[in-house]
Amino acid sequence: MALELNITVLIGGVGGAKLARGLAEVVPPPRLSFIVNTGDDFWRYGLKICPDLDTVMYTLADIVNPETGWGLAADSSAALDSMARLYGVDNWFRLGDKDLATHLLRTQRLREGESLSQVTAHLSRQLGISARILPMTDAEVPTILNTINEGKLPFQDYFVRRRCAPIVQSIMHKNAERAAIPERARAALLNADALLIAPSNPWLSIAPILSVPGMRALLSRVRAPVIAVTPIIGGEAVKGPTAKIMRELGLRPSAAAVAEYYQGILDGFVNDSRNPPMELPGVQVLQSDTLMRTLEDKIRLAQEIVHWIEGWLS
Ligand code: GDP
Repeated sequence: MALELNITVLIGGVGGAKLARGLAEVVPPPRLSFIVNTGDDFWRYGLKICPDLDTVMYTLADIVNPETGWGLAADSSAALDSMARLYGVDNWFRLGDKDLATHLLRTQRLREGESLSQVTAHLSRQLGISARILPMTDAEVPTILNTINEGKLPFQDYFVRRRCAPIVQSIMHKNAERAAIPERARAALLNADALLIAPSNPWLSIAPILSVPGMRALLSRVRAPVIAVTPIIGGEAVKGPTAKIMRELGLRPSAAAVAEYYQGILDGFVNDSRNPPMELPGVQVLQSDTLMRTLEDKIRLAQEIVHWIEGWLS
């Protein structure tokens, strides 16, 4: 860990968090900042739930459920089971008993007037995380999917309740025009030596971040290079609906289509070695094995990317 670089990462949930875990072993965590998607956030059972913030937080604190990549390790579900058994509540959105601690505390502090940025900083500090975990905005910008068969679906209805089955026509970021980049997130973007876009779902995890007014403009004029990592390997997503959504939106699932989606902000692209080589005007490409199954994979990929950036900046 001899690195002096400040790295800021735009990130969603489980896919992105794999790279975050590797980066935290390669870059001193105080030099790492994560701008996290909050388009998946919603209110349920009276609580404010922020799935991607929690996934990144739990991953960096090493308390994440290793089987799912989200939620807490060794958790149980007695509270939600009781809600269904005693009161007939439809508990399709699962929250673990230990995990409830996070949602209860977050909701309490938000109700007391703290911003989501402040609450997240508090929770991260308490979990012993020294990287900065920063919501993309403090406003509520819920992702809504416009589907062919079931009309407009709030994100979690689509993703969890309907298991991504409905066909997506378009995606909206409600109230984005009223949102702003929080000061801490802006500082992390301006002070970075390199900006990464994690291998997260471009349409569901990164697009909401880019929808915050001023974000795209800021990314295209920051001095630091902006480098995206492919979430597509061999024409498919490793997990989740990225490739399915691309097909439904009329795109061929490929790393090239992802890079094209980020056109205008991108200086570099980490392509998977299983994908066809790419050539993009003005964009440097690193071919690498981007599949992260083990902690060693995550560290190796993070190392490769950071060395590439170092060579670039020196
Ligand atoms: P979510 O919010 O929990 O769905 O997670 P993200 O949006 O952060 O990540 C989903 C994306 O991560 C999908 O498009 C996957 O293809 C991608 N992904 C998951 N694991 C890997 C991996 O090991 N390597 C690469 N390159 N992409 C991955």
